[in-house]
Amino acid sequence: MIPLLIEKLRSVLPADRSFIALHEPNFQGHEWDYVKECLDTGWVSSVGKYVDLFEQQLAAYTGVHHAVAVVNGTAALHISLLLVGVEAGDEVLMPTLTFIATANAVTYCGAIPHFVDSEERTLGLDPRKLDAYLAEIAEVRGDGCFNKQTGRRIKAVVPMHTFGHPVDLDPLLDLCERYQLELVEDAAESLGSFYKGKHTGGFGRIAALSFNGNKVITTGGGGAILTNDPGLAQRAKHLTTTAKVPHKWEYNHDAVGYNYRLPNLNAALGCAQLEQLPGFLEQKRALAQHYQEALQDMAGLTFVTEPDFATSNYWLNAIVLDEAQAQLRDELLKATNEQGIMTRPFWTGMHKLPMFAQCPRMDLAVAESLERRTINIPSSTFLGGRHDEA
Ligand SMILES: *Cc1c(COP(=O)(O)O)cnc(C)c1O
Repeated sequence: MIPLLIEKLRSVLPADRSFIALHEPNFQGHEWDYVKECLDTGWVSSVGKYVDLFEQQLAAYTGVHHAVAVVNGTAALHISLLLVGVEAGDEVLMPTLTFIATANAVTYCGAIPHFVDSEERTLGLDPRKLDAYLAEIAEVRGDGCFNKQTGRRIKAVVPMHTFGHPVDLDPLLDLCERYQLELVEDAAESLGSFYKGKHTGGFGRIAALSFNGNKVITTGGGGAILTNDPGLAQRAKHLTTTAKVPHKWEYNHDAVGYNYRLPNLNAALGCAQLEQLPGFLEQKRALAQHYQEALQDMAGLTFVTEPDFATSNYWLNAIVLDEAQAQLRDELLKATNEQGIMTRPFWTGMHKLPMFAQCPRMDLAVAESLERRTINIPSSTFLGGRHDEA
């Protein structure tokens, strides 16, 4: 199976490269012009036109009314959680299969991650299984939702759109309403992904995006908070800019704020990248299509495609081995990486990491199975253009 899979991957990937990374940034637009302008004018840091421009363009593209640019996606998650009222001692429901940032941000608030199982169809949080679980362990009182087993308040749920594939949001929204939970979307991987025609990040009260170097678009490092609530947007801006009270010369701050503002230099990069996003998404769809065609009749594995309710950005392509082939995973990772085709396993489930091992969790059978069987394969935008040129 392994030699055949490598042959199939090679049929999609360019032949003239000895090494193919998992995800490379792509700078073919106005990056140099906009960044040079920052350097020429001296507006490199916390003041300049590109931050405002980037925020306006993000809001326009996603259709979410307000975007607040910040230093990275982790900071965006941290502030989002604080703004929906997550407090020390609260529990926050989140998938165990996610990047560490989701669990870290919950912990920065003094709150406790409570791990939820995934569903195979989306690789993300399973809303139906969560619903059944909450029926058992949760109790809604006048002042919120409580975990009957720990006595702690469950304040929020943070779904994450894995590799750009949206989770099933409708049943999750319904559940949030019934259990009085705040929905904070970790949309770090899903810029350009839509659930039933509406951009991810616009479903909960607030959401986080990331523009890290490996994401669909990058600002070097960066992130954004998305919300339709003007009050929340204003507080997000205030809290991420040291909670400074606006004044021409005086330094007054009315809260313990954060220095989470995105520098103008990075925002300039972001504006240039955002202009290219539609093209990137087309290339990504083309690459996914090529993989799907090449892998569709291969026994023993499934190429991950968008759920029927979604249009995905196909940020990171993935294959899931059948349960019977799971033992091949490590050999497969070794063989592909040795041959210059970079592949990666799924993240280690958060519940297995030492700092989160004591956190509450539901049955995680699907997540544990997916973790053992899922492999990411090269997904850079430029890989999608090749067949059209040939
Ligand atoms: C990238 C990412 C983040 C944010 O990461 P930063 O590096 O802080 O921008 C958060 N959650 C998930 C799931 C991610 O993939």
